[in-house]
Amino acid sequence: MVSFRISTILLLSTRVSDVVLSVTAFSAASADASSPTVPSTSLETIWNEVPEGPPDAILGIAQAFRAAPDEHKVNVCVGAYRDAKGLPWVLPSVRKAEEIMLSDDKENKEYLPIDGDQAYVAKALTFAYGANAPLERIAGVQTLSGTGACRIGGQFLADFYPNKNIYVPDPTWGNHHKIFAGCGLNVNTYRYYDRSTNRLNLEGMLKDFKDAPDGSILLLHACAHNPTGCDPTDEQWSQLLEVIKEKGPLIFFASAYQGFASGDAEADAKALRRVVDAGFPVLLAQSFAKNFGLYGERCGTLSVVCKDAAQKDILMSQLKCIIRPMYSSPPRHGSSIVRTVLSDEKLTEQYYTECASMADRIQSMRSRLVETLKEVGSTHDWSHVTEQIGMFAFTGMNSEMCDELTDQYAIYLTRDGRISLAGLNEKNLVYVAKSIHAITDGKSITQ
Ligand code: PMP
Repeated sequence: MVSFRISTILLLSTRVSDVVLSVTAFSAASADASSPTVPSTSLETIWNEVPEGPPDAILGIAQAFRAAPDEHKVNVCVGAYRDAKGLPWVLPSVRKAEEIMLSDDKENKEYLPIDGDQAYVAKALTFAYGANAPLERIAGVQTLSGTGACRIGGQFLADFYPNKNIYVPDPTWGNHHKIFAGCGLNVNTYRYYDRSTNRLNLEGMLKDFKDAPDGSILLLHACAHNPTGCDPTDEQWSQLLEVIKEKGPLIFFASAYQGFASGDAEADAKALRRVVDAGFPVLLAQSFAKNFGLYGERCGTLSVVCKDAAQKDILMSQLKCIIRPMYSSPPRHGSSIVRTVLSDEKLTEQYYTECASMADRIQSMRSRLVETLKEVGSTHDWSHVTEQIGMFAFTGMNSEMCDELTDQYAIYLTRDGRISLAGLNEKNLVYVAKSIHAITDGKSITQ
């Protein structure tokens, strides 16, 4: 009978990732007769005790969409760009960069350093913080897209920042809660959106910032807030910064849509640059998933604005200590693409045009959706959708309406009423508008 050493089983109870290693290592080794053993059926029992995990709120719906048999099904759930034919789009500037890389003898498949390709990081940080960015005092590491950036930044704060309270907007991208809780931070929310008006809840936001303990961490979306598509205006930012100044908090920016919101990457970086210029302490989680269409390449950065170059070096050393035991070093293909594009003036220009074309198509779907809703007979005020920015329309539909859209019309969306406008095109627009009208007619779209 196959048996497992007690020491192996003890490892099983500690970490799932260790389990596979321990069991594999044991099966290759010969049993040590002197070691106490437990029967293999114990392992079966242990696995039987593992409860099934819930599907991810967003990716679980994407999975359900793929499995759905309906021919007319529509996916407006996941935030990934689709072209006018409903297909994923690889930017021609990205393809061109790949061609350049393919014919460049200096490109290879060696490991990147722990902190990634620093030439890429410098280009990425200049893209975010601007041409005059004080790179000499910004500690920046390459990360596994925006998710990885939040994870590394969150861990750094949990390890070294005395106040463990992070405040995230209500609502925010759902993964924020899990990422920061996973880092050991206390995740709190601040009021952000008023569902009774379908607009920013500025009063609530100001009040919650005022009430947050001094030195708390505030998570702010740099632009195109996910899921609401509702950003503070310049004037509202001024009011928010006045309050933030008094409280001395640390600002953690999540930037996943720079360039994708307005079509102008410089304009979309305005809030971040304004806050850095005003001297606030800032961390930035940057993603190139949407704006470069590099979703699966997992390409981003985490950066910390420091006092000076010496402080930057020390923080860099600690960021590397966090990364090394997690995944050693980041993947190199996506970052090489971004570096290649942003190192070539002509290619950069081409990239900006292509990024703007994605933003334009999304923007036109936003206005077309509202127009079509009216054309098919909806009398609701959908002006909040027109006022929103970025990839999503936060419609105001409640979770029952969303369930109805999915169950009766095979339109797949998150249950908070968020629609990814990139999933709309001329072929499905009227169908989606008619379906939304059918389930919202005579009911309230405010909550
Ligand atoms: N932050 C925000 C606000 C997001 O909306 C997203 C993606 N939906 C991310 C971070 C992370 O995405 P990724 O890991 O693909 O870069």
